[in-house]
Amino acid sequence: MSKTKAERRHLDLVSSLGCVACRNLGYGPTPAEIHHLRTGRGMAQRAKHTEVLPLCPPHHRASYPTGFHANPRGWQAQHGTELELLKQTLSDLEKLTELFV
Ligand SMILES: [Zn+2]
Ligand SMILES: [Zn+2]
Repeated sequence: MSKTKAERRHLDLVSSLGCVACRNLGYGPTPAEIHHLRTGRGMAQRAKHTEVLPLCPPHHRASYPTGFHANPRGWQAQHGTELELLKQTLSDLEKLTELFV
């Protein structure tokens, strides 16, 4: 799936928010990379580019024991579900973009 200009802008804004898990833990916004939601999707389906979360590498990658992909179930029990965090991310994004209107 190729990205449109609007999707690319959305991804930039999402990653500029900083890691959602770190912010919820009170660590402040740490530099984030993009996690595409897996919830409710089969292996063949790719998540939409708007269904993304900002996560720092230690909260994202399978190579870290604290990473989402190391243990999606345990991770969501600790940090909240993908859908809860997506809701939070979208409302954070709304506040952020209002500043630039
Ligand atoms: Zn983090
Ligand atoms: Zn991911």
